[in-house]
Amino acid sequence: MAANSDDINTQNEKGGIFECGLCGLHETYHYYGRQPPFHRAVTFMEECYIAKDPFPSDGGCSFLLLGSECVSCGQVVCQANSCSVFYAHRFCLKCAAANIGEFPSEIQQRITKNSK
Ligand SMILES: [Zn+2]
Ligand SMILES: [Zn+2]
Repeated sequence: MAANSDDINTQNEKGGIFECGLCGLHETYHYYGRQPPFHRAVTFMEECYIAKDPFPSDGGCSFLLLGSECVSCGQVVCQANSCSVFYAHRFCLKCAAANIGEFPSEIQQRITKNSK
């Protein structure tokens, strides 16, 4: 099913298509922002793309955090360790590697491990 490419990463509060700029992960999202309406108990540190969990356990309203924009270059990246790191803000792994000196050693290790 071909989605209209205009729907990709549109930051639409009502949902659309999320696509990671690094690994190409392509997923439907149901909400963009900090407070998903289907899970009012959570507030995120950043605006991000969120999908409802297709397999909720115990009738709970769980969700999946798909990803968000790199604060440095604005590219949309997913949560995978090989695509982004979160340190106060979301950074894509390219920007993180380019500014590796800015991160604490623990995060630096994660960046070097994942950027080959
Ligand atoms: Zn990715
Ligand atoms: Zn970046």
